[in-house]
Amino acid sequence: MITENYDIVCENIGNACSRSGRMRDDVKLIAVSKTKPVSDIEELYGHGVRVFGENKVQELCDKYEALPKDIEWHMIGHLQRNKVKYIVGKAALIHSVDSLRLAMQIEAEAAKKNVIANILIEVNVAEEESKFGLKADEALKNITEIAKLPHIRIKGLMTIAPFVENPEDNRKYFKKLKQLAVDIQAKNIDNVDMNELSMGMTGDYMVAVEEGATYVRVGTGIFGERHYDI
Ligand SMILES: *Cc1c(COP(=O)(O)O)cnc(C)c1O
Repeated sequence: MITENYDIVCENIGNACSRSGRMRDDVKLIAVSKTKPVSDIEELYGHGVRVFGENKVQELCDKYEALPKDIEWHMIGHLQRNKVKYIVGKAALIHSVDSLRLAMQIEAEAAKKNVIANILIEVNVAEEESKFGLKADEALKNITEIAKLPHIRIKGLMTIAPFVENPEDNRKYFKKLKQLAVDIQAKNIDNVDMNELSMGMTGDYMVAVEEGATYVRVGTGIFGERHYDI
């Protein structure tokens, strides 16, 4: 079931690319495996999938240890400064950097480990109270400061759009993130490129692809519903 779901999502991405005149290779699918067992990931791994996303540091680290080392792990969830040390060197890309303070912690850890940390800047384009992320009008100022940190590379922007019934309702937010990336790119800041746009989840990834997503983060649409045992 999981591999079939994965293939359907890939096909949908391909169709969204065709509709919008984009190259299929410009969109990467992150299989969001949070709360799902290692065996589910192994099933997809056997299907050739190497790109997975997690939203909790502990879970990413546990799965990192348990699974083959050629998996590319994406940290997509809110990151606390005291957990940064566990994730730097393991995550290929941290999608959720939303403050200079957090970036400085990542810088310190990356310097200590002598690695470069690739990050995205999380922007709360819909300005939802409950969500993390910088406001669009704070992004440039923060990016200008974060760009000065030598062990960090800013690769683009990320957003978590509102939960909606109709994915069309989120199109305006995806457009807004894309436009923000274009505006920031035009500033030609050293150490900053805006090539990556992480946007779109199970409910709205096709619209996100039409609006320029380069990473879509799909969990439920691949692995099925999540069950949180609390
Ligand atoms: C859980 C999660 C996703 C995937 O959500 P689905 O709706 O299950 O596809 C994407 N992005 C982030 C940041 C998440 O936490």
